[in-house]
Amino acid sequence: MSAVLETTELKIENYLTLSDEEISMRIEAARHELGEDVVILGHHYQRTDVVKHADLTGDSYQLSVLASQTNADFIVFCGVHFMAESADILGKPSQKVILPDLGAGCSMADMATIDQVEDCWEQLTEVGVVGGETSVAPITYMNSSAAIKAFCGRNEGVVCTSSNAVPLFDIYLKKFDKMLFFPDQHLGRNTGAKFGIPLDKMVVWNPHLDLGGNTEEELRDAKLILWKGHCSVHGRFKDWHVDKIRADVPGVQVLVHPECMIEVVEKSDFNGSTSFIINTVDNAPSGTKWAIGTEVNLVNRLAERHPDKEIHLLAPDLCMCATMYRISPQSLVWALENLVAGRVVNQIKVDEETKKWASVALERMISLTEKN
Ligand code: SF4
Repeated sequence: MSAVLETTELKIENYLTLSDEEISMRIEAARHELGEDVVILGHHYQRTDVVKHADLTGDSYQLSVLASQTNADFIVFCGVHFMAESADILGKPSQKVILPDLGAGCSMADMATIDQVEDCWEQLTEVGVVGGETSVAPITYMNSSAAIKAFCGRNEGVVCTSSNAVPLFDIYLKKFDKMLFFPDQHLGRNTGAKFGIPLDKMVVWNPHLDLGGNTEEELRDAKLILWKGHCSVHGRFKDWHVDKIRADVPGVQVLVHPECMIEVVEKSDFNGSTSFIINTVDNAPSGTKWAIGTEVNLVNRLAERHPDKEIHLLAPDLCMCATMYRISPQSLVWALENLVAGRVVNQIKVDEETKKWASVALERMISLTEKN
């Protein structure tokens, strides 16, 4: 489990009245003072007034790996809680990970707690789906707590990202009779559909109902058991948004993240991870038109970077990761100035036992995807 190790004497309240310019200057001054002792990570969905201070930008796994390759003693993760945990798991033992605002969680990751997952496994064992003649592997998306990654490590399972879900499903579907996938039902369903698994063989496990709301027979027949979780950002895109943008913008190509519902993915032209979305737009010819179904900050930055292309957000309303938005320039400067003063605030630390088993699941992911 994570713990906050130290509290602060520099109060966050003192930063709330500063002007944007002053905050920006003080962030840069603190960075200069700390030099290579600190690396600031900015997730692709982070707000622009924060990400402009990042040393490295990327997706959560990529950032954790890159940070572990630096000599920085302090990793300041401008992202959400599970990302900071992953950085602590993958980082060097000497590195300390800081999340500038502890309120920056992930609503999807929070939809699967370790107690619920262990209860699910126990129920599946009681009805003979786990531990009987069929083999079942738990697979978790990177967007999950360290405790759930560790659960997968202990039970022959693995972690996947939206970039490598397809090759890992390929391996696991051949090796095991069934998979229990959490916490994002949509990534699980969209990936299962790529292997031709019919929808009625992909049942949903609702952690608030007995047997997840399924019959024993349905669970025995299922190829995939999908946790009832979703991303509050990608879940906002609907299939009618695709119809509407095609009617409004002739020639538009629709590009979405696989955390979107299957109805949206099926109507799109392309779907893939955040890196896939960025590469597709970066490499598209001038004059092409795109409607993108992912977080609004990323879509806005892509539009700014490519004025020669017509780039729309797939939905007209704001699709922002509200929890990631909790990381503000104020919380960033607060964390950095505390470091300058020799205090580590908001450290995210995964306990050694959880770290050990979560590392097993992550190393399994790395070794299986490197072989393919
Ligand atoms: S965009 Fe969705 S999955 Fe990503 S951190 Fe925000 S809530 Fe979680």
